[in-house]
Amino acid sequence: MAETRHDWTKEEILAIYNKPLMELLYEAATVHREYHDPNTVQVSTLLSIKTGGCPEDCGYCPQAARYHTDIEGNDLMSVQQVKAQALRAKSAGSSRVCMGAAWRNVKDGPEFDQVLEMVRTINKLDMEVCCTLGMVTENQAKRLAEAGLYAYNHNLDTSEEYYKEVISTRGYEDRLQTIENVRKTNVTVCSGGIIGMGESSEDRAGMLVALSTLNPQPESVPINALVAVEGTPMEEQKPVEIWEMIRMVATTRIVMPKTQVRLSAGRTEMSREGQAMCFFAGANSIFAGDKLLTTPNPDVNQDMEMFKMLGLNPQKAFVKAPQPNTVEAEDSQFQSLGEKPRWSRPGHSIGQNEAATEKGKAKKLIETPIENT
Ligand code: SF4
Repeated sequence: MAETRHDWTKEEILAIYNKPLMELLYEAATVHREYHDPNTVQVSTLLSIKTGGCPEDCGYCPQAARYHTDIEGNDLMSVQQVKAQALRAKSAGSSRVCMGAAWRNVKDGPEFDQVLEMVRTINKLDMEVCCTLGMVTENQAKRLAEAGLYAYNHNLDTSEEYYKEVISTRGYEDRLQTIENVRKTNVTVCSGGIIGMGESSEDRAGMLVALSTLNPQPESVPINALVAVEGTPMEEQKPVEIWEMIRMVATTRIVMPKTQVRLSAGRTEMSREGQAMCFFAGANSIFAGDKLLTTPNPDVNQDMEMFKMLGLNPQKAFVKAPQPNTVEAEDSQFQSLGEKPRWSRPGHSIGQNEAATEKGKAKKLIETPIENT
């Protein structure tokens, strides 16, 4: 059996990534079969519970308020709305719900309490609950765990070196610290990245070094292909070639054999043949629903047709780890500490982010109606 190593080097990972494709596919598919059922793929549903208006400057993200893209923002959804969407997702074959809020970090208070209630509600529907809410402290991670959270998503996005070209409002060490905080609970870790942001193959390998040398490795690694949204600093980036995606999935599978590898954003640009090769290379999860937070995604019926064609079965909930217990709010051991953690703010200048911010300001000015004086 392929061993789980925590000492991968960038050179070793690059050598795998650059192997002749047939050799790479064979090796990845062999590792995949050792730890996973190759005919089972998890279907997860991503719900944007709070969209837009984010203070961060992630160069790929249309939810950053400063870029003034055309996405429609919304305030935090109600618990009932989330429950209704989770039930719909479950009946369409999803075993996991991932709730995303466009926040820099979690703040103690009524909105976080509402998210905790959403976690309790979905866990009681016997679905895996994942949240992606930005940076969290240890106490906040413990409160999420107590509510019944199954996974916390916090992507490293890219290599530590290239991260500085993408985001200036927080540092790589904040990401690692949040993952460490989550690791102090029994919540599983979901962390991956995006390809197609202008990074080199070395950066892709660098991200896989950062993820695979974590001990334990993340239970789940989403691999996204950039969806270049108009108005964002990366609007001009060329689409990722399917071969790059297949290589990235296969390499991830080889260096993290037990991890659930998720085909995430960018699936609308992929043919069914391309997606089938990704499944062969070791991807064993997709996100369902016509939107992934704010970017387009294939609709559920198309995905189910693809599953039928390929003879794939949706994975049941809690196959990889047991269902957590839910502790009710009144019985909670961990109360709000009203923390105000000092997450870093490097604030260096990224040319393309600044240009997109200026463009966003100009657009806002044009769209603002002139008041009568
Ligand atoms: S990726 Fe997340 S943190 Fe970054 S701008 Fe978008 S919503 Fe905010």
